[in-house]
Amino acid sequence: MEYDYVVAQTLLLGVVALIGIVFTFALPVPNHKSKATSGRFARLFLACCWLVEVCQTIRYSGYEDAGRMGFYLASLCAAYMLMMTIVKRYGHSLTRKQIALVLCHFTAVAACSVLLQFEYLTQWVGNTFILLSVAFPVWLAVRRVKIYLAAQSLGDKVLYAVLSAVFYSLLGIVPLYLIFFNASNVHHHGLTFALLLVFILVFMLSFAVSVLHSLVNRLHTQVHTDPLTGAKNRHFFYEIAPKLSAHALRNNDILSVVVCDIDHFKAINDKHGHVVGDVALKRFCKIIQDQLRAEDTLIRMGGEEFLVLTPHCDRNQATELAERLRQVISQTEIDAKGIKLLLTASFGVIEMTPSSEFFSSVKEADQALINAKAAGRNQVITV
Ligand code: GH3
Ligand code: MG
Ligand code: MG
Repeated sequence: MEYDYVVAQTLLLGVVALIGIVFTFALPVPNHKSKATSGRFARLFLACCWLVEVCQTIRYSGYEDAGRMGFYLASLCAAYMLMMTIVKRYGHSLTRKQIALVLCHFTAVAACSVLLQFEYLTQWVGNTFILLSVAFPVWLAVRRVKIYLAAQSLGDKVLYAVLSAVFYSLLGIVPLYLIFFNASNVHHHGLTFALLLVFILVFMLSFAVSVLHSLVNRLHTQVHTDPLTGAKNRHFFYEIAPKLSAHALRNNDILSVVVCDIDHFKAINDKHGHVVGDVALKRFCKIIQDQLRAEDTLIRMGGEEFLVLTPHCDRNQATELAERLRQVISQTEIDAKGIKLLLTASFGVIEMTPSSEFFSSVKEADQALINAKAAGRNQVITV
């Protein structure tokens, strides 16, 4: 191959890697400190890919031994940077022991290069060792993404598919290399260029999809969560709750709704101020959450009014739950900024029927709650 052509390929890959690096700066940075460093490793990965190509060019220029060692180490570096991008993406870090093992791995690969130089090692053994060495961190990355696949995020799925493809193609190259290329002294510069170009482009795209998708997920959660108490909010009540209810009833599942409002809460604000009131609200929510099952959903309807969606609970079970909540609340002393408070709350309960409309059922439960207030507060009334 023409030398000029090889240099042009190297420069072109450098430009593509540079565009990739600039592109990662444009992506949104996660809040999580460890996850935020993921982009840094993604940039290092792109830089290492380019270094691999540079080392191939050095080999092509006649400096076989130096170029080869550089090629091996840069390839290994790229694989580890890929792994670190994934590890950080999920908010993890390496332990000291793991870092020491990685350094040993680098030393072994450098030693392999020296052994090849002095022909203490046959080509195929050396090449197989290097390919498996590069495949190893990619395999670790694949495993890491697989753990998070349970989250069913599209970004994770794309990342998993891409990494698996890279891993299996690295393994697939071993026999190809042994059968077709082992005997030849050609440096396959074009092949390296094409593979690196594909890796860089696919990596950039899948990294972007993964980052954007988790951002969308985060926004989705935030839109439906009340920042003060961590309970679901009114958006959730209007958008998701009716769908959950309709889905349960369609599947002949029973479902009840418990509404609740703290008694005389205004007096607490008036006496101790809003800050104490806010802390009291948080503690109140925690007391309720601790009594609920995983499948129950607590929604803050606004102010100090809450709603609990309880699947698989009929009228009696939901009343029992409300009664238990009422008792626990009235017996648990709340410490809000050093001020000890004992709250009580009133409850309205309704069981949904297959024919009931979600919002009109909630209205009926609200009416029961108003009746509980009128009847003297700190009590449960079931429709
Ligand atoms: P009752 O329900 O027993 O009739 O009396 P109440 O005093 O609790 O009356 P109501 O439910 O109508 O009043 C709600 C009060 O809750 C009004 C406001 O001072 C307080 N409140 C609502 N939202 C918040 C909040 O986010 N933080 C704080 N600190 N107070 C809030
Ligand atoms: Mg109230
Ligand atoms: Mg209220």
